[in-house]
Amino acid sequence: MDSCIFCKIAKKEIPTEPVYEDEYTIAFNDLSPQAPVHVLVIPKKHYASLNELDDKEIMSALFGAVKNVVKKLGISEYRTVINTGESAGQTVFHLHIHILAGRPLKWPPG
Ligand code: 5GP
Ligand code: ZN
Repeated sequence: MDSCIFCKIAKKEIPTEPVYEDEYTIAFNDLSPQAPVHVLVIPKKHYASLNELDDKEIMSALFGAVKNVVKKLGISEYRTVINTGESAGQTVFHLHIHILAGRPLKWPPG
């Protein structure tokens, strides 16, 4: 998607320091961090949300990427979030997994 900001990050059209990267995924720091650690993991291929994701290889790669990110950051306690749809808080319509850590995180969320 030409206009998608995360596609631009995935294609390195916007300079980004990846926290982690492989063939299928890239992880980078959130622009507006909500915790001391706030990393986004995205598939390089555009999927508007989790609802559109139909490729098991990419599903597996995304979970693998999360595990690689937390290993790289040396953390074992963290929250993962996927907001799907506007009413669930999704604002960027390219699938992404939030990884949040570094402060106490309340449950249930707001
Ligand atoms: P959502 O609300 O869709 O679940 O999360 C979108 C996230 O993307 C937000 O936490 C927001 O701060 C982050 N974000 C939006 N635009 C950019 C950007 O251009 N670069 C980075 N690194 N993060 C972004
Ligand atoms: Zn995209």
